[in-house]
Amino acid sequence: MQFSKHHLVYLCRVVLIAVSTTLLFSTSITAAANHKWAPKQLNPMRSPTSQLTSTKNLLSSIHQLNDNKSDTDDSDFSPHYLTKKSHSKQTIQGLINHAPDMNPTMPIRSLSQRDYRTKENLLDTSYNVFHFSPKSMFKSHTAIIDVPSKTLKPIAKIAINKWNFALKTKVFKLGNHQTATLPIKFAQAASNNWDGLYNGQKILINERHFTDPKYPTAYLKPALASQMTIKRYWTGVMAHELGHTLGLDHTAYQADLMYAPTSNGNLITKYLWEKPVQRSSTGLDGTETARISQRDLDRAKLTQLLGYW
Ligand SMILES: [Zn+2]
Repeated sequence: MQFSKHHLVYLCRVVLIAVSTTLLFSTSITAAANHKWAPKQLNPMRSPTSQLTSTKNLLSSIHQLNDNKSDTDDSDFSPHYLTKKSHSKQTIQGLINHAPDMNPTMPIRSLSQRDYRTKENLLDTSYNVFHFSPKSMFKSHTAIIDVPSKTLKPIAKIAINKWNFALKTKVFKLGNHQTATLPIKFAQAASNNWDGLYNGQKILINERHFTDPKYPTAYLKPALASQMTIKRYWTGVMAHELGHTLGLDHTAYQADLMYAPTSNGNLITKYLWEKPVQRSSTGLDGTETARISQRDLDRAKLTQLLGYW
């Protein structure tokens, strides 16, 4: 079956954690944190082994998709190409090995345009990035966003500004229904286990959760809830979903905006995880603080170089 890059759905959810004495005193921070941001499980019943198998199948599909890109393809002749030489796969693998895990620092972001084209698979699997959005979404590196809801709009504006400020470019702009390439809308979720969703075409926000004035803080451990605000949380959800539109899949670093507590549901991943590789200093997820980390930012710069936005 042909794998379609643009029919991907990200469900980013918060599971309600009942605040009870039992939970407060018996649940570790780990367990509580891990319940908050599980993304959609494409097949909830699968074991880690079958997850690995399906990830491998997915990667082989991706590789098939990209097999027609050869190292000798010079069709995209550009000034970048003229000034920078391309490297062997081994050389680039060496650069990746020397760079911090999941963080494409300057050496990885200084390759030739031809390298980004011909080593795309290697970079995708090394940095959990993928061409999620259709080319029509980003015209001249900008997506035009329509937010029909008056209550969602102020939150969307903050999330948009966060990415624009971090990337130092207007990657997201507010437009209207006619001009928009990326709608952000409320959805009446059939299932209650997600807050934000990106389906490759639009971002949906779970209206039932959004309109619950106590969500999510009243359902979290007080020690965590006291450090966050509801507005900042929803800004984080929106910014996280915008990150998916840029081609960013989840990471295992808790402070990242694109963090998820497990790799279940990732469409592409360097490795599987069931707990954070590194915890945040506050115990809050990056989404809950709505902060774009250096890793998030470097990955988004890489996806621009890869032509994903
Ligand atoms: Zn997500």
